[in-house]
Parts: sequence; C-alpha cells; structure tokens
Amino acid sequence: MTISRRGVLSSGLASPFVLRGALAGTATLAGGGLAATPARANESAHRFTLGDSEITVLSDGGLSLPASTLATNVDDAERSAFLQSHGHDTETRASAINVTLIRKGDALILVDTGAGMNFFQEAGFLADNFDAAGLDRDRVTHVVLTHAHPDHVWGIIDDFDESERFPNAQYLMGAREWDFWMNPDFLAENPEELHSFALGAQRNLGAVAEKITRVDADHAVVSGVTMIATPGHTPGHMSVLVEDGGAQLLVLGDALTHPTVSFEKPDWQPSTDQVPELAVQTRKTLLDRVATDGLMLIGYHLPWPGVGRAEAKDGAWRYVAEG
Ligand SMILES: [Zn+2]
Repeated sequence: MTISRRGVLSSGLASPFVLRGALAGTATLAGGGLAATPARANESAHRFTLGDSEITVLSDGGLSLPASTLATNVDDAERSAFLQSHGHDTETRASAINVTLIRKGDALILVDTGAGMNFFQEAGFLADNFDAAGLDRDRVTHVVLTHAHPDHVWGIIDDFDESERFPNAQYLMGAREWDFWMNPDFLAENPEELHSFALGAQRNLGAVAEKITRVDADHAVVSGVTMIATPGHTPGHMSVLVEDGGAQLLVLGDALTHPTVSFEKPDWQPSTDQVPELAVQTRKTLLDRVATDGLMLIGYHLPWPGVGRAEAKDGAWRYVAEG
C-alpha cells in the first residue's frame, strides 16, 4: 500500500474544528477546497531580539474556519457588519499558525508544535520551515504546550513513521490541561465534537508522556521564561511570558486569536473557546496588562507573524501589528 504523507489527511478525522457543536454548515470543513489560506511563500521565519533572547516565529501554515465561529453570542448581521467595516471576509475566517521559538542562554524553547499532517491540508509545515530557516529540530531543549488542541500538539510525532519531531526536548504543559484531555473516561464524559481532538491529544501526548512535566501557574521553564495561567480557550490553557533586558513578551497561544474581534470585541465568544465566560475574562485581563505595561505579544493565529502590541481604544483595545 502506498501512503503519501498528505494522503492520510482527514482519514481519522471524525469532526471538523467545531468545539461546541452549535454551528451548522461547518461539516464542509472536513473536506478540501478551503479558500483564503494565508500564503506561506517566503514566510518561513521571522526573527527579532528581546534583550539577549533571540525570538524566531516559524510558520506552520494556516487554517480556515467559517466566520460564524468568531462569535456564538452575536447575531449574524452584527458580526458581518463588524467584519466588513474592518475589511475582513464575512464568510471565512482565515488564520495563520505562528509558532514561537525562544533562544535564551543554552535553552532553545519551542512553544507548541503545529498541527502535523492530519488536521488541515494547509497546516503542518513547521518541520519544513525549521529546515528552511536553517534550524535543527534536534537542538530544541524544551517544548512548552499552551494547550492540547490539534493545531498545537498534533505536530509532536510524525505520523509517517511515528518518530518524535523534537527528540531531545523535554515537554511542559499545564497539569489542568493534561488532566482534561488524558482522562481515561474522556469519551464517556465529553461531547462527540471533542472526541477526535482527545484521541489525537492522547496519541501525541502519550507518545512523549514520560518526558512531560505537568506544571501549575507561574512555572519557570528557565530563568526569565514563565508559564502563566490563561484559561478559557481550553480548561488548562497557558501562555508564556519572556522577560529579558527590561522588556517583556507574551506568547499568547490562543488566548487572543483574531486581530480585530479578540481586541475590539473581547466579549464575543468564539465557538472555539471551550469555557467561553472564562475566556472572556482572561482576554480582558491580558489585554489590560499588555496595553498598560507595554508588552509585546505573539498570537498563534494572528496574521503572520503575529507580533504586535495592544493599545486601549474606546473602552476596549486595538491590535497594533509590529511584524
Ligand atoms: Zn489554535
């Protein structure tokens, strides 16, 4: 039997990227032919420094979802009018996948692993872009997982030969997040929409289980790189704070996912947030801190390379890209 690396796509994927199952019409996402994917050409790596730390953002590609996933608590007309007024597509929400690599002293810390080959056809390019950027995956010392959704952990192992993509790394993730997805009774206790996510998380996390340290909030990965609790997108979601030379960078994961909705309408509840009210609270707390203290941020799904800041605007915030 001949299996191409891309040929196995979707074969084990029972549900599309819909977490709360409230949205009709999304089943078409399981097929191909998705539009408006962010371009990847010449976008493999974006580099800058923060004090003595070297930050590299690598692209894993992108993914596309219906625009309706941006808010479950706002009617279609209001959502479409807002998106249109900001020049966004009103039907499709196309997102980048920006993976952050932090070189701090002897440590080379990767934040999330991309989607691997089995989630979205437009995603799974992280390993290729490591090579394109002249980086060696064998040298990654730590992998921090913000949460266990497919586009963040399905890149842990290469499904083609089951090898580890970052074989010399130790892993860190929130204990709460591990407990949620690795629950042996997960399938009985959670809605079907989450089952393929859980099976993928269990397969990937399980493959490196003995290398994973499960941590609580404010855990220092190395000096100046701290995992902070930012729950809501998932129950145990964490972000990464990098401090060096008096500057601060917050690697958000999926605490903020959209360049206008997440900042200007933080009360809107995306269907991709599993604990919506908590996600709203976390978003506002983070935005207030980022804007007030002048932190730089990197958003996993903000437009490539997802580097910017937030500033207060009309009782909410505004994203200021710096990529
Ligand atoms: Zn994500």
